[in-house]
Amino acid sequence: MEKIKMTTPLVEMDGDEMTRIIWKEIKDELIYPFVDLKTEYYDLGLIKRDETDDEITVKSAEATKKYGVAVKCATITPNAQRMTEYNLKKMWKSPNGTIRAILDGTVFRAPITLPIIKPVVKTWEAPITIARHAYGDVYKATEFRVGKGKAELVFTDENGVETRETVYDFECDGVLQGQYNKDSSIKSFARSCFNYALSVKQDLWFSTKDTISKKYDHTFKNIFQEIYETEFKAKFEKQGLEYFYTLIDDAVARVIRSKGGFIWALKNYDGDVMSDMVSTAFGSLAMMTSVLVSPDGKYEYEAAHGTVTRHYYRYLKGEKTSTNPMATIYAWTGALRKRGELDGLCDLVDFANKLEKACIDTLLSGVMTKDLVSLTDGSVEIKQVNTSEFIKEIRNNLEKSL
Ligand code: NAP
Ligand code: MG
Repeated sequence: MEKIKMTTPLVEMDGDEMTRIIWKEIKDELIYPFVDLKTEYYDLGLIKRDETDDEITVKSAEATKKYGVAVKCATITPNAQRMTEYNLKKMWKSPNGTIRAILDGTVFRAPITLPIIKPVVKTWEAPITIARHAYGDVYKATEFRVGKGKAELVFTDENGVETRETVYDFECDGVLQGQYNKDSSIKSFARSCFNYALSVKQDLWFSTKDTISKKYDHTFKNIFQEIYETEFKAKFEKQGLEYFYTLIDDAVARVIRSKGGFIWALKNYDGDVMSDMVSTAFGSLAMMTSVLVSPDGKYEYEAAHGTVTRHYYRYLKGEKTSTNPMATIYAWTGALRKRGELDGLCDLVDFANKLEKACIDTLLSGVMTKDLVSLTDGSVEIKQVNTSEFIKEIRNNLEKSL
């Protein structure tokens, strides 16, 4: 078989630990044999980030701006323990945070659902997509640990006029944090959510803590409402769709009682946390896809889960692990499909669809990794396999369809 040609390279961002091992296996077994893969490779593994003073992360984001489509492996966000483990020069920031700050935009996370895996929440009939704002807030916050003294919030406008308010008069040690966001980023967040909702024909929910955060969160609420009224209301009504704003506490309760099948837009931190809850309730973290869409139409595909450290430590001891590669495979298929669409390469789009179908067929035949076994409804005979066996079985199914 002749390999499928590509015209524009994908920006490939390699990562860490177990997902780095799986990354290579996916390329070797499921992509190289079929696609004449063109990528511009950036190693975002922690060792390389430390070596380049994290310049490599910035470069990979800039390459994404240039080419338009990236695929990213999960990466370690260093903490104190990683500082010693990897003997780091500095506690580098989250690569995802850095990339999102450069690309702006919104992260859409949707579970891969299967008829043989019933969600933990019995009322959920259709996937819930989380739309997470991917700019600012706590991910770009400035923080101090402080002692006794006065903390103030000071804003100096372009004419030098100061607005000053006391945050707290510290009588003891404490912590302090400054967060920001930009109207322009919130507007593009709102527009990408409304557009995405229209494109998948689903209702859009949005929630913040506006009752407590009367300026910060309220700004998000106001901007969404204004953009809805002026740009999207007519289109939503024409399609019979609803835009629904509610306080986050209320949203959490309603989501659990809902049937699913809508998009839930959330601020950066809320989206980070809620997407883990939603993905776990739909089955497994390993079945959650994730794509960052920037306001000017750049795409970065990744798995929603991390580097699966616990499995990696077992792998290092020589054990064969049953780590689920589904979300990482879907990061590749998402990126290849988008590249194919943008470059008018029908074969590439077709390949991405067939690879996804081969994954689903494999799971429906009962061949699966350990994380999924206890979630199935008992309607098929299960064969639990390790990661390599699972990927090989997907390859068998893929070859049958080509
Ligand atoms: P994690 O890597 O997502 O893993 C948490 C647990 O979830 C695992 O121990 C495993 O449970 C289960 N799991 C996750 N993905 C799985 C898969 N593909 N197959 C089977 N089980 C899976 O989260 P973490 O342990 O909190 O974080 C590990 C590292 O990843 C950290 O250094 C963190 O900074 C980084 N991280 C990166 C990203 C990203 O790059 N997007 C996102 C989150 C975290 P069992 O052990 O019970 O099997
Ligand atoms: Mg998270």
